[in-house]
Amino acid sequence: MYPWRISRGRYSMTDRTLVLNASYEPIQFVDWRRALALVFRDKAEVVASYDKPIRSVSTSIKTPKVVRLKTYIKLIGNYVHKAYSKQAVHRRDGYICQYCGIQLTSKKATIDHIMPQSRGGRDTWKNTTTSCQKCNGKKDNMTPAEAGMKLLSVPDKPDLVKQLDVDLATQLRELIYNS
Ligand SMILES: [Zn+2]
Repeated sequence: MYPWRISRGRYSMTDRTLVLNASYEPIQFVDWRRALALVFRDKAEVVASYDKPIRSVSTSIKTPKVVRLKTYIKLIGNYVHKAYSKQAVHRRDGYICQYCGIQLTSKKATIDHIMPQSRGGRDTWKNTTTSCQKCNGKKDNMTPAEAGMKLLSVPDKPDLVKQLDVDLATQLRELIYNS
């Protein structure tokens, strides 16, 4: 049921840490540095470690293999947004500008109509995407092709599993960076 984000190539096996929910359900794999950041900020506890000690730090610290969040992340519930809304588009895209890839906050994220509204473009899953203000202004009343801009993803109705993965990544990011 839970999508385990397994990184390919970038990390070796011992670079990955499995994050468990407070209820011990596996959530996803993250880089061990991220997992350790959660532990240092008292957001998670180490459940199991690799034998390999972390280099250049105290030898008493080992790479975490499994950590458990101290607060429960709600997995089931309102993550399935069947109804179209601008906020749901932002969630689908993980608050990432689909033109330049910049991470946005909910306040900074705007909606870009791929076929501009002035030219008949509608509010649909396929015609709207998350954009930063700069890219939105640059694209103006053009299509991406006309503006010479490329979309990072093909917009569509959010896939349930993908949406869960995006939401978890968003929540983990907030836990890691906004504590
Ligand atoms: Zn942008």
